[in-house]
Amino acid sequence: MHLSEIAKEEKDDYQIKPMNCPFHIAIYKNSIRSYKNLPLRYTELGIVYRYEKSGVLHGLARVRGFTQDDAHIFCTPEQLETELVSVLKLTLEILKDFGFKDYDIYLSTRPEKYAGELKNWEKATKSLKYALEKVKLRYQIDPGEGVFYGPKIDIKIKDSLSRPWQCTTIQLDFNLPDRFNINYIDEKGKKKRPFMIHRALLGSIERFVGILIEHYAGAFPLWISPIQFWIIPVGSGHRKYAREIGEKLEASGFRYEVKETAETVSKKIREGEIQKIPYLLVVGDKEKQSNSVRIRERGKGDIGIVKLENFIKKTGEKIKRKE
Ligand SMILES: [Zn+2]
Repeated sequence: MHLSEIAKEEKDDYQIKPMNCPFHIAIYKNSIRSYKNLPLRYTELGIVYRYEKSGVLHGLARVRGFTQDDAHIFCTPEQLETELVSVLKLTLEILKDFGFKDYDIYLSTRPEKYAGELKNWEKATKSLKYALEKVKLRYQIDPGEGVFYGPKIDIKIKDSLSRPWQCTTIQLDFNLPDRFNINYIDEKGKKKRPFMIHRALLGSIERFVGILIEHYAGAFPLWISPIQFWIIPVGSGHRKYAREIGEKLEASGFRYEVKETAETVSKKIREGEIQKIPYLLVVGDKEKQSNSVRIRERGKGDIGIVKLENFIKKTGEKIKRKE
C-alpha cells in the first residue's frame, strides 16, 4: 500500500518540512528558560524540502530535498557579540579545512519593511559589524538587503576558477521570537525576549559537495577523498598480501579498494590516475618480502618503495592535518 493511502486510512496528514527553525523553537519553549540557561545552541543536519520549479533544478546546486547544517542560537542581548564572533570563527575554520581561502562577505542591513523594534535592529547590526571586525574580515555593506525579520551576514566562497558561491549565512531574527512568544527570565525575574540567530555554515550539504567537486575538479585532498587508496597486486600470488594491507588501512580508518581484477597492472594504474585516486599502492614479490608498498602518488607518479608502517603513519598525519 502506498504511504499516502495508509495516511488517508489512518486519517493522518503527512507533511514535508521546509525549514528546521520552528522545531528548534518548540524545543526551546519546552521549558521555562532563565538567563542562566543561555546561550542555548541547537544544531541539526536537517533534511528540508522546497518545491523548486523543474526549470531551476540544477545538478547538486539546486535540488528539491537537501540537508542543511543548521543551527539556532538563543541568547541575551549581552551575549550576542560573543556568539557571533564564535560562529564566524567556526565558519572560517571550516572553510579553511575545505581549502577555500577566498571569499566575499556581505552585511545586509534593514530593509524598508521590517519586523521588530528599531533599537534591536541597531543593536543586532552593530553586533554583526563588531564580530566581522573582531575576526578581521573585510566586508561590504548591502544596504536595505536584510530579510524583513533581521540583518544578516552572507559569505560567498570562491572556487578555484574564482566563481562565487553563496554558502554561509548568519541571520538575526526578530520575527519568529515574537510570533512564537519565546522568553527567558532575566536576573530581576522579568520576562525578556531572547535574540535568535539562524546559522548555516556550509548551507546545503548537497550543494557544498557540488562546489567541492568543482573546486578540486574531482582531485580531492586525501582526507576527503571518497577512496583514498587503491591496492594493486602485481600477480595472483600477491592478492593475499594486498588484502592484508587493506585490513591494516581499514584499522586506521582509511578508505581503500583492492583491485584484484584480471587487467594488467599498467591498465589499473592508468585507471586509478583517471579516477584521481590519491595513492596507488602496487605490491609484488619485493614489497611482500619487505612488508612494503610501491607508491604512486597523484600528480607525482612513482615515489618508490616505502615500509607499510611508515606509509600508514605518514598518511595518517596528513589526514589529521586535513591535507
Ligand atoms: Zn532557521
